[in-house]
Amino acid sequence: MKPMGPIPPEFAGADALTIAGHDAEHWIAQAGDTPLFVYDFAIVAARVARLRAAMPDRLHLHYAIKANPHPVMLAAIAPLVDGLDVASGGELEKALVVKPAGVVSFAGPGKRDDELELAVRSGATLNLESEGEAARALAIGDALGITPRLAIRVNPDFDLKGSGMKMGGRASPFGIDAERVPALVRALVSAGADWRGFHIYAGSQALSAAAIIDTQAATVALARRLADEAGARAAHVNLGGGFGIPYFSGDQPVDVEAVGAALGECFERDGDPDTQYAIELGRWLAGECGVYLTRIVDRKQSQGETFLIVDGGLHHQLAASGNFGTVVRRNYPVVIARRMGAEETETVSVVGSLCTPLDRLADRVALPHADVGDVVAIFLAGAYGFTASPSLFLGHPSARERFVNLPDAER
Ligand SMILES: *Cc1c(COP(=O)(O)O)cnc(C)c1O
Repeated sequence: MKPMGPIPPEFAGADALTIAGHDAEHWIAQAGDTPLFVYDFAIVAARVARLRAAMPDRLHLHYAIKANPHPVMLAAIAPLVDGLDVASGGELEKALVVKPAGVVSFAGPGKRDDELELAVRSGATLNLESEGEAARALAIGDALGITPRLAIRVNPDFDLKGSGMKMGGRASPFGIDAERVPALVRALVSAGADWRGFHIYAGSQALSAAAIIDTQAATVALARRLADEAGARAAHVNLGGGFGIPYFSGDQPVDVEAVGAALGECFERDGDPDTQYAIELGRWLAGECGVYLTRIVDRKQSQGETFLIVDGGLHHQLAASGNFGTVVRRNYPVVIARRMGAEETETVSVVGSLCTPLDRLADRVALPHADVGDVVAIFLAGAYGFTASPSLFLGHPSARERFVNLPDAER
């Protein structure tokens, strides 16, 4: 038997899974069929409120839309956050439907000229990833007769300790090495661009408050040093994000209140009073709101092991199969929806319907007995699920998506 991660607090402790007051079969009937992602927006709203209460008032909160870019999600979260961060021209178009360009920033390597042009025309801020990209953005601004809004993504000379995905302190396709940044700031300013400041993103999926606190302090200090060296003022500094959520056995949630208190002290000590600071979060805001529901189509034994074979799989929820950014495969929290609180009487593996051994959604976990027709629920499906999975692989139908507990305006 192998352990699984913790069930998010909003769903834990019940005899049967309920989402927004209804059981899984209710939402499946309403959506038409399984597999189905159900997203409880009240959980997202509660995360935003908790973060706002914990963080210093002067800090802006951005949503990194790649975590869950569903248009309903964007429309519902846009009024709750100060800005949106996007990572492609396609995401930029979606963001501009719900937020003014002035609070949208566009990071990501390999931006094509048509993407740079869309950003310049709309007035979104480009987070420049290289000197070459800076030159192309300036040329596009000249050709269009529009002053481009340009920030510099810095490849910091440190990383976010304990993060699942390190994004700094090494050679990187992301950002410009810190020591080359002051020269580029001067070049942008003298070229007449609207230089907006810095974007510094040191890693993702960190659970340790102490590590996040150290990284934020180092980020604030680095931004200040780079601006001083360039002889310029950064109007805006995006401190990145990196707040993780507990996916696996033993994971503890981030103490965001401790992070917020320390960031407040850091601003007092080191912050530039003229700079607007922001953090950008995806997973921490959206991850826990989603539940992936998939029905058991077969139950079989092989060499003494029991397999529950479901109608979904890694083509919808790749991350739960351990093939999205994890080194060692570990189990997400998984339950049998109608028997969630029942005693665990058997050890089973839950596998998807794809014809590949990679499609294992839960590996030798203890669950109550389940039969063909029962619904398996996999938690933590609100971020990097539907759009981060290879949905075309093997030609199975797409999953459905359903939002519940939406604010009145989005219903
Ligand atoms: C993906 C990404 C984020 C969001 O990361 P999470 O782990 O979902 O919070 C933030 N900023 C940038 C630049 C990103 O690429």
